Amino acid sequence: NILGKAPGDPKLDDIYTIGKQLGKGAFGIVRQATKKVNGDVLAVKSISKSKLMCKEDVKDVQGEVAIMNLVAGHQNVVTLKSTHEDKESVHLVMELCAGGELFDTIVEAGNFTEKKAAQVFRKMVEVVHHCQELGVMHRDLKPENFLLTSKGPEGELKLTDFGLGVFFKHNERFKDLVGSPYYVAPEVLRKNYGHEADMWSLGVILYILLSGLPPFWGDTEEQIFKMVLRGHVDFKTEPWPKLSDAAKDCVKKLLEQDVSKRATAVQILKHDWLVKEGIALDVSL
Ligand code: ADP
Ligand code: MG
Repeated sequence: NILGKAPGDPKLDDIYTIGKQLGKGAFGIVRQATKKVNGDVLAVKSISKSKLMCKEDVKDVQGEVAIMNLVAGHQNVVTLKSTHEDKESVHLVMELCAGGELFDTIVEAGNFTEKKAAQVFRKMVEVVHHCQELGVMHRDLKPENFLLTSKGPEGELKLTDFGLGVFFKHNERFKDLVGSPYYVAPEVLRKNYGHEADMWSLGVILYILLSGLPPFWGDTEEQIFKMVLRGHVDFKTEPWPKLSDAAKDCVKKLLEQDVSKRATAVQILKHDWLVKEGIALDVSL
C-alpha cells in the first residue's frame, strides 16, 4: 500500500469510467476519466506498481502526490483531484488539459513571435517561482510537461509531472542525474546542483520557443551532454539575428554556466524583455 489507503477507500472504477489514452510516460499511462455522478471529464495517470522497482521509485510516487498537493492552488499548476490504489496500480486523478502538450503547439507553430513567447514564458517563470517559494524543484521542466487546458487563445498553461520533483532546503545540493537530455543543466551532469537547475531548463525552453530549435543538440545522449557542458549558445543562425537584443539577453542570463550568476525567477520576471513585451500586450488588449 503506497499511498496509505484504507481497504474501504473508493476504487478508481467505483467513481470514474475510464476512456481514451491521452499520453504515456516511463511509469504509466494517462487516460481520460469521466466522473459517474456528474459526467465531469478528468485525466487519470495510472502508475503500474510492477514498474516501481525499488524503494526510491515508491518514494518518488509518494513525493509526486505530496508535491502536487503542496503546489496546488496556482492557476498554472495541474490540480490533483483524488488518488486511488489497487493491486496493480496507483492512480492520480487530475484536471483534464484537453489542449495537450505545449510541445505539440510549438511543433505546429515552428516558433512563436516574441510577444507570444513572452506571454507564455512569463507564466512558466511565475509557476516555477511559486514552486521555489514552497521549496519544490521540478527537475523535468520541458515543453512536454507544460499542458494547455484547451487549444486556441483561451487555453491556460499548466505545469504537470512532478514525478522527478523534490523538496529542497536552502542551499541544499543534489547529485541524482535526472531530467531530459536537451533540458538538463550542466551542474546536474556534474552531479552537484540546487534549485537553479530549473532556471537553466527554462532557458532551454525559451530558446526553443523563440527559434523552434534546441540550443544543445546531438545524435546521442553523450553528444548532447557534451554540448550542454560546453555551453556555447548560437545566436547567429536564423531567426536569432532578427530577434530583439532583450530576448537574447533573457536567454543568455538563464543559460549561464556559473550558477551564482544565473538569473533567478524574480530577476527574469523583472527582465526588460518580459516587462516590455508585457506592456505591449496590455496596450493591444
Ligand atoms: P510521465 O511522468 O510518464 O512523463 P506525465 O505526467 O508527464 O507522465 O504524463 C505523460 C503525458 O500524458 C503528458 O506529457 C501528456 O501528454 C499526458 N497528460 C498528462 N497529464 C495530463 C492531463 N492532466 N491532461 C491531459 N493530458 C495529460
Ligand atoms: Mg512527463
